[in-house]
Amino acid sequence: MVPSISVVDARPETATDRTEIADLPGGAYLEGRWQSADMTLEVRDPEDGFLLGRVCASSSDDVRRAIAHIRRHLLLEPWPLRARRQALEKATELLDQQHARFAAIIAAEGSKTIGEAEREVRRCIETLRLSALASSELSGSTLDFEDSLAVGHKIGWYTRKPMGIVAAITPFNDPLNLVAHKLGPALIGGNGVVLKPSERTPLSGLALVQLLLDAGVPAGRLAAIVGGPGVAEALVTDEDVDLISFTGGPRTAQRIAAAAGAKKILSELGGNNATIVCADADPVAAAEAIVAGAFGVAGQNCLSVQRVYVHTSLFDDVVEHVTRGTQALRTGSKFDRRTDVGPLISEAEARRIEEWVDEAIASGASLHAGGQRRGAFYEPTVLTDVPAQCRVIREEVFGPVVTLLPFTEISDAVQRANDSDYGLQAGVFTQSIDLALVIAEHLHVGAVVINETSDIRIDSMPFGGFKKSGVGREGVRHALYQMTEPKNTIINLTESGAPQQLLGGLPERTTS
Ligand code: NAD
Repeated sequence: MVPSISVVDARPETATDRTEIADLPGGAYLEGRWQSADMTLEVRDPEDGFLLGRVCASSSDDVRRAIAHIRRHLLLEPWPLRARRQALEKATELLDQQHARFAAIIAAEGSKTIGEAEREVRRCIETLRLSALASSELSGSTLDFEDSLAVGHKIGWYTRKPMGIVAAITPFNDPLNLVAHKLGPALIGGNGVVLKPSERTPLSGLALVQLLLDAGVPAGRLAAIVGGPGVAEALVTDEDVDLISFTGGPRTAQRIAAAAGAKKILSELGGNNATIVCADADPVAAAEAIVAGAFGVAGQNCLSVQRVYVHTSLFDDVVEHVTRGTQALRTGSKFDRRTDVGPLISEAEARRIEEWVDEAIASGASLHAGGQRRGAFYEPTVLTDVPAQCRVIREEVFGPVVTLLPFTEISDAVQRANDSDYGLQAGVFTQSIDLALVIAEHLHVGAVVINETSDIRIDSMPFGGFKKSGVGREGVRHALYQMTEPKNTIINLTESGAPQQLLGGLPERTTS
């Protein structure tokens, strides 16, 4: 039985529609049961501090028990591929039916407007569907002994086997779909999973765990623990975890790498993504895409457009259109359908962004739009004349701030775009396919998007970055490869070892 948490405050009049989330999941899930002890971790709506409810503050002992339970079941209870596929297909159906409820949970606990939350649910349905389809990827191949120096006559093949237990650690900003990007591939691959969702937005992930159990995922394959860095460290240091699949910030990734020892770690980290607008681009189309890509989810998106390099001949035009488009955005309550930009995940984050923008302005930057904070809200902000050493350029802003910078030579724009510790994605606007492809060849990022900004992801593509943007790739099929390992079976064919009386008079062996 899932312990539900009830809405404990009255909803303020400004933000009307929280009724749909009365049935929120609570607790944590381990040893095949929802836990109701230690429900002390508060989940609040960042918009107004409204207390949505409480979930468990899991302990290190919970982590140990969750892992031990899954390990026992992995050994004792096979879960065939066909059943895994059917469970994920069923999960797709169930999520489609509960679309509105999940969107309301995402919008209530995080930063997304209700429209953005609805889009995340649709993407999550796609991620689960792709996970079910990926069952066909779990085949192997024969081994090429005839082309090797192997002694004697051998034949063999490899198949893909699950790693074992996957620790799935996720961030706050896509609290449903990024959980599905780990649970879907891990489960179809035959692993057990312990989820540790962000302590700031745990409800969407917990609701997805319940949905997967309802869809037929065995209780012995799945657990969810809740809490902050302490409990997460207990998870990553546990000797019985075979793979850590982490999405979050680079500093956290470093801590995980230092603590985890020799475990396999996949990490999807941040970006301070560049977009290049060439002299032959359509400035209006580019400006519209920049506004959409910079301010979606209040800029709290690893693919957000942060640095835009614009050819000098178009610079004033693009600045004007980006500024006008930004000023037209409406910042407000997530549940108001007229809202374009919701709050940051916390007031502390909004204050950090305020500090970074103030630092840029004090260093000589010009402010064209925004620059104002109200509680956890920060107005979408457009800057120019920002010196290269400022944090809004060098670091990941993860907030609603875009900087426009002029260039004259393409080589200079590419060099400045690459001058970053990150390498996640980049955009290029030009009408010349040759120019686009040359630029794409020289950008050191995981994906180059032509005639769009960096802010494009489809859930099937290999997704990830170079440099500090991560290690490995997600995108269901690609995650599945990393969450399974090839296992060889090799047969040494010895005729002398075969029972001679059973061999009879065999014909000569055929060779190619
Ligand atoms: P975060 O690194 O603060 O937290 C992410 C998760 O790590 C949370 O569940 C947190 O509890 C956990 N964690 C914290 N300390 C830990 C520790 N010592 N050991 C193990 N786990 C620990 O990130 P966030 O603020 O939730 O999310 C924002 C970051 O995530 C940004 O940098 C953003 O770019 C990145 N992100 C990347 C992608 C991608 O796919 N590349 C997608 C979304 C977000």
